[in-house]
Amino acid sequence: MGFLAARAARIKPSASSGAAQRARELRAAGRDIVNLGQGEPDFPTPEHIIEAATRAMRAGETRYTDTDGTPQLKEAIAQKFQRENGLSFKKTEVSVGSGGKQVIFNALMATLDAGDEVLIPAPYWVSYPEMVAFADGTPVVVPTKNFKLTPQDLEAAISPRTKWLILNAPSNPAGAVYGEAELRALAAVLERHPQVWVLSDDMYEHILFDGRRYATMAQVAPQLAERTLTVNGVSKAYAMTGWRIGYGAGPAHLIKAMAVLQSQSTANPSSVGQAAAVAALSGPQEIVRSRCAEFARRRDAIGPKLAAIPGLSCAMPAGAFYFYVSCAGLIGKRLPTDEDVARYLLEEGVALVAGTPYGLSPYFRVSFATSMENLDEACRRIARAVEKLN
Ligand code: PLP
Repeated sequence: MGFLAARAARIKPSASSGAAQRARELRAAGRDIVNLGQGEPDFPTPEHIIEAATRAMRAGETRYTDTDGTPQLKEAIAQKFQRENGLSFKKTEVSVGSGGKQVIFNALMATLDAGDEVLIPAPYWVSYPEMVAFADGTPVVVPTKNFKLTPQDLEAAISPRTKWLILNAPSNPAGAVYGEAELRALAAVLERHPQVWVLSDDMYEHILFDGRRYATMAQVAPQLAERTLTVNGVSKAYAMTGWRIGYGAGPAHLIKAMAVLQSQSTANPSSVGQAAAVAALSGPQEIVRSRCAEFARRRDAIGPKLAAIPGLSCAMPAGAFYFYVSCAGLIGKRLPTDEDVARYLLEEGVALVAGTPYGLSPYFRVSFATSMENLDEACRRIARAVEKLN
């Protein structure tokens, strides 16, 4: 019986932050490492957003704000949902937190009792099961086909204790995207189980390739809207990961409970960050498209090179900026798990994240939120490292 609570022991640190940390340590020791571990755009925040934040600071927007977002930001978010997703929300149905991460955390903390189950299709963003466990809930990992949840697997996973289904598209780590028909088929299952809510994590909405149109559950299945929380943010779309602004929209009674939690923990997200987010959501949107086109260019150039390395295979992601690469062909006596593969590749000068913490092995995640030069060099190093295994 130590000083730390059981809760602290239940939670694992983020695997992606851990990998980044090891890469930094090796670099500090003088090693040449290409980092493909990063989960954020490598672009700067657009200039007009920085200017808006500067103006806000000068104008005295440096104080506490309403706990879960300024009226201006809530209005900009409501307009975003109307414009881009055809969804209508009142300000009382919108919650702003310090990143989408806090919004998801608040929602789970505000709704889960011990033993409540949360369905998490694998591979998943590493934080979902940890947050569920933190909130005393039980994460239930659900298998997928081509990294997507099927109606049959959803039906089979639902129990009377199921409280949430977490859907994330484009997904981290696999870039999987659901089309409208696929969401409708999942919604048909959920209609039979009124106790199950949907948490739709749309964080990578704007990093979507090949002319696909984005579809989100609340829009496709309005009959589920009263039990859907749609989460999004400015981190990935506008290269604003450090500003820590994310938001959720859903039924007012849930939003209110989330605000109470936030009021007794962090209180409002940064006032300056909120002003910047207003500029991001209400300003010119062209930069979002041009950056997405750059991610697509990298995907198209690097995907075939990765897939051509013996022992590796990967599908082209439909969105986000990650390849989820199968390394089944490298697993053996020398490298028994994908964590061993990731450690070996780090020794060979490439930092990436093993699949194990994402709930589907043997894989590793390659981020293409880095320059084409780095990506090319990493492919060369991985190919050389694989060759050395023979
Ligand atoms: N959801 C997914 C799938 C993510 O990958 C991330 C960040 O990596 C987040 C949510 C949270 O983003 P933020 O807290 O920066 O808004």
